[in-house]
This record gives sequence, C-alpha cells and structure tokens, in this order.
Amino acid sequence: MVCKNCKMELPVYAGYCPSCGMKVHKPHVHHEIDTTRGPRHEAHARHVDWLFEPVYREIERRLEEPTVDKSELFDTARRIEAEVLKGNEANPGKIVRWLKLYEEVAPDILGLTTTALLGPDVDVTPAVRDAILAFAPEPA
Ligand SMILES: [Zn+2]
Repeated sequence: MVCKNCKMELPVYAGYCPSCGMKVHKPHVHHEIDTTRGPRHEAHARHVDWLFEPVYREIERRLEEPTVDKSELFDTARRIEAEVLKGNEANPGKIVRWLKLYEEVAPDILGLTTTALLGPDVDVTPAVRDAILAFAPEPA
C-alpha cells in the first residue's frame, strides 16, 4: 500500500504516513485476497478479519521495543489468519510455532489472538483447536 498523498510505500501497520504525516485509511481487509476461493470463502475470511481486528489494533498501539519489530508481529497475525483460512488443510504445527513467537515476545498479543481464533464460526479443525487451547487461558 502507498500513501495517497506522497506515494511513499507504507509499513503495513502504519496509522499515519511516516513521510508526510497523512492519516492512512486502511481497507477493512487483512487477509491476502488470493488466499480465498469463491464468495463464500471470502465472506468467511472477512468474518475472521473482523475477529482479528483487536489483534491488529493492539499491534498498532503497542510501544516500540528494540527486540520486536511491529511488522514481524503484523506478518505473524496475517500468517496465522491465512493458515486458519485453509480450513481442513491448516497445519497446527505452524500455528503453534507462530503462537510460541507471540508467547515469547508479545504475550499481550497472544491472548488477543487465541480469543480471535476461538471466536464464533472460525471453523478450525479439532487439531488446530487443540493447538490453540494449549495457549489459551482457562475459560472463566
Ligand atoms: Zn505520505
């Protein structure tokens, strides 16, 4: 995505253009459009995007840390989302690896991510669900 004002290439998580300061209006779509097959799958993907909204928002808001790049956190969220959108072909091992990354460097993001993944109608496979539950806090 580029800035509408100065055409600078923007970081994915940017709320404002780092060059000219213009507010970035992001489309309400996080997943890669070409990961979806057909309108029903696309509608499901947008639902999952919506559930992931707090994850992306928190990544945007959190303070910069020298050891963690926000773009890395952002890419990881997108990867987890894309993997889950594969439905039956989703690989629980990959999801575990990405959740471990969050556990290590961004526990605040981990909780939001597991909540999103266990949200209504995400339709994860039992294996993926078990993998997520290993990271989720005990249900209240
Ligand atoms: Zn700009």
